[in-house]
Amino acid sequence: MTTLSHLPLSTGATDFIDDARLTEILELPAPDKSLVGEVLAKSLAKQPLEVAEVAVLLRCTDPEQHERIFETARQLKRDVYGNRIVLFAPLYIGNRCQNDCQYCAFRRSNPEVERRTLTELEIRAEVEALEREGHKRLIVVFGEHRQYSPDFIARTIDTVYQTRTGRGEIRRVNINAAPLDVDGYRIVSSAGIGTYQVFQETYHHQTYARYHPPNTRKGDYLYRLDALSRAQQAGIDDVGIGALFGLYDWRFEVLAMVTHGLHLQERFGVGPHTISFPRLQPAHGVELDDCHTVSDYDFKRLVATLRLAVPYTGLILTARERAELRREVLGFGVSQIDAGTRVELGGYASRSGLPSAASEQFRIADMRSLDEVMRELIEDNYLPSFCTACYRLGRTGEHFMEFAIPGFIQNLCTPNALTTLMEYLMDYGSPETRAAGVHLIQRELEQIPQPALRQHVQQRLRQIQETDARDLYF
Ligand code: SAM
Ligand code: SF4
Repeated sequence: MTTLSHLPLSTGATDFIDDARLTEILELPAPDKSLVGEVLAKSLAKQPLEVAEVAVLLRCTDPEQHERIFETARQLKRDVYGNRIVLFAPLYIGNRCQNDCQYCAFRRSNPEVERRTLTELEIRAEVEALEREGHKRLIVVFGEHRQYSPDFIARTIDTVYQTRTGRGEIRRVNINAAPLDVDGYRIVSSAGIGTYQVFQETYHHQTYARYHPPNTRKGDYLYRLDALSRAQQAGIDDVGIGALFGLYDWRFEVLAMVTHGLHLQERFGVGPHTISFPRLQPAHGVELDDCHTVSDYDFKRLVATLRLAVPYTGLILTARERAELRREVLGFGVSQIDAGTRVELGGYASRSGLPSAASEQFRIADMRSLDEVMRELIEDNYLPSFCTACYRLGRTGEHFMEFAIPGFIQNLCTPNALTTLMEYLMDYGSPETRAAGVHLIQRELEQIPQPALRQHVQQRLRQIQETDARDLYF
């Protein structure tokens, strides 16, 4: 086993997670109806909740109160986000890893996984396959290994942006990779990234130590907790936090993620752009006992509570979850989902049916194609979007709160969702999805109240239908 001589790296970072305090407020008695009502009213007024207020929602034991929480989350989602859902796909670049996270198939002590890093040609083949499905937004995923240096990550992003096939192109690349130092983030940032995600996995110190051995880079809790603060210092103002649910009490993790968001907001004037809440999945060569398995019911509570806690933060729901559950949870306030997902290396170009356990990180539950997911969304009256306008026009960070600016959704997000949906339908949609989508677009157009804007959008939609014009964003 390699021992990293430069540990610890976290000197100077602040530990803002107080396990004892979070545990204490979760152990207070269950709240009465009127206290729950006060907290829900604050959420509906679109104000972010304090940690103690989030704990009130998490301490509810009465199913009737849970229903109230679900219903309020649904309403808040409609008020803040409307019916848009943004789509993306993950792209796994390499599964070499010097860490030893006990839950992950890529961990270094797992002999059952075949180690592989895609070559530039293989990356291009993957991106082309994703573009042929209609994807425009990717999250590019790496293990933690010296081979995956900031320069390597930057080159990979460049390759992704440069790869084009037919009308296909990737317009936004988000990253899920190991925490970097400030200089490393600067290098990656210069390649033009969207969100940089780092999940803390578990915020509970003792549990963190149990799953991440101390002689590994990831064993340094504080270096990881400080990761996105360093990203901000390097000028990356678009960051995503997350926890891996199933390692510790889900309610603790929710409170800790809210604490993390507030910390970033206070320190840098901008909170996380997105929150992810993956649930632990079975993985090749991984056997865990004594997990804090999160039931479907609690998963719904988790998503609804997050929605109410941070009304303006994007929530990401992945294909780790089953299609039926995804469909239900979408209504509680999810803003982004992946579709047509493959997590095995090279899985898009060699789409051959069953995933290969030898190189995948974990098992996914929703194996549907992008087109199938698009059709279901449209039939459920959601507006699928591939919009990347804000990031490309520099509308990020503290200068910009897409959901806070009055009229923003109506004037920019909905029009951009409609044009990117029309591109998808024309270039990649199956006949059924196209027919359903064109109807949806018509209904949405009728709901644009300003005649000038409606006309403008209509004109762009016609251009997309009748000409080669693409990427017409507001
Ligand atoms: N190596 C980097 C890291 O650890 O941050 C980034 C990539 S890692 C492949 C992405 C995420 O996958 C991890 O942060 C973890 O939350 C999640 N993950 C790992 N093992 C998992 C499992 N068995 N089930 C579900 N998600 C898992
Ligand atoms: Fe490596 Fe990330 Fe997997 Fe941990 S979760 S073993 S760091 S790939």
